[in-house]
Amino acid sequence: MNVYDGQRIAAMLEKHGFEQTDALSDADIIILNTCAVREKATNKVFSALGRIRRAKKPDALFGIVGCVAREAGATAFQRIPDLNFVLGPQSYHKLPEILKNPDTKLLNIDLTGLEKFDELPQMEKSPAVAYIPIQEGCNHCCTYCIVPYTRGRELSRPFKDILRDTELAANTGAIEICFLGQNVNGYKYTDEATGKTYRLSDLIKETAKLNNIKRIRFTSSYPTEMTDDLIDMFRTEPKLLPFLNMPIQSGSQNVLTRMNRPYTLNLYIDIVDKLKAARPDIQISSDFIVGFPGETDSDFEQTMEIAKKIKYINSYSFKYSPRPHTAAALMKDQIPESIKSERLAKLDSYLNELQRSFNESCIGKTMECLCEGPDKTGKHLVYRTPYMQQCIVNATSKTCEKQLANIRITAANKASLRGEVQD
Ligand code: SF4
Repeated sequence: MNVYDGQRIAAMLEKHGFEQTDALSDADIIILNTCAVREKATNKVFSALGRIRRAKKPDALFGIVGCVAREAGATAFQRIPDLNFVLGPQSYHKLPEILKNPDTKLLNIDLTGLEKFDELPQMEKSPAVAYIPIQEGCNHCCTYCIVPYTRGRELSRPFKDILRDTELAANTGAIEICFLGQNVNGYKYTDEATGKTYRLSDLIKETAKLNNIKRIRFTSSYPTEMTDDLIDMFRTEPKLLPFLNMPIQSGSQNVLTRMNRPYTLNLYIDIVDKLKAARPDIQISSDFIVGFPGETDSDFEQTMEIAKKIKYINSYSFKYSPRPHTAAALMKDQIPESIKSERLAKLDSYLNELQRSFNESCIGKTMECLCEGPDKTGKHLVYRTPYMQQCIVNATSKTCEKQLANIRITAANKASLRGEVQD
């Protein structure tokens, strides 16, 4: 979602005559697009703001947008007095107001629902991968998560608005559509005129009809929202990539209950089995939190067990960190940092091993991959496999940016693959 927000902020400023620069000391406006999911990330935002205020041009405007802005609100101005603007994730479309009144402080952390989607400018040229938000906010209220506070209750965008965005992206260069939402597979929109209710599976079906769109994916999924119609899409729609991020967070039923994630491990495993029956080559990735309040050694071992059972091909794992406005921050039995670090190192090491093993299993295979553009050296092109692995290919006359190509995988390590374009 942050990639989408960043792209739209850039498009909004381009409409006001700005262009992007990598040089901080040249910039007339500096925006930190922030995430508040973890405490460490929030702290980093304020250290970065301190560095920016020392390095920027004296009259350059600077501020924060996104979830840290919503979390900090007016206190951000107390911490960094010369900050110019603080705009929440549902109000960053108000950014141009600071351009009209640069001598004021702009604070807007309102939850404005879906308003921003009507006000943000459309991109004139789409990148190869177009990120299309389909819903905003979340009703799940996991006890560790600040998202329901920062992004509000769950709202699904009108079906026709999303199709308009996908068509526009397809007509301006997109090859892949990635549907986005905090609870993306919970998408549910009822058209008042017809009474018809649309789900994510309907969006996938309609998008697959667009000739220019060759790949479709969605993130991030909640296990109990993996309904049969959506699972069936993996069987019937070849443009839907055989890869799904479906966070489990913990392998312990007790911890899941305290996290307020009301699914059983058996249900989760059943969903994975159904997905594999629908699409035998599908691979799953997950997010994990270790050291949740009250997590015992035995709970943690159950997390290791589920990782072994599902064999996730890539995952994100984090130490639990208490966030404001969440129930878990008030729970007793907070786990000492040293134990969290030990558990994280053990889980990470195993997840890395799984990732390396999957990457190595790809050597010798040919996969249709999407070129995202050159790497920093300009000597290579970066492709994405259908499993979202990064694959580095020497740039030759046969390689072409922003297009699909059949790539034979020649080498692999934990982080990435190497490959060659096939004729
Ligand atoms: S489902 Fe995801 S976004 Fe929603 S509350 Fe839980 S962790 Fe947060």
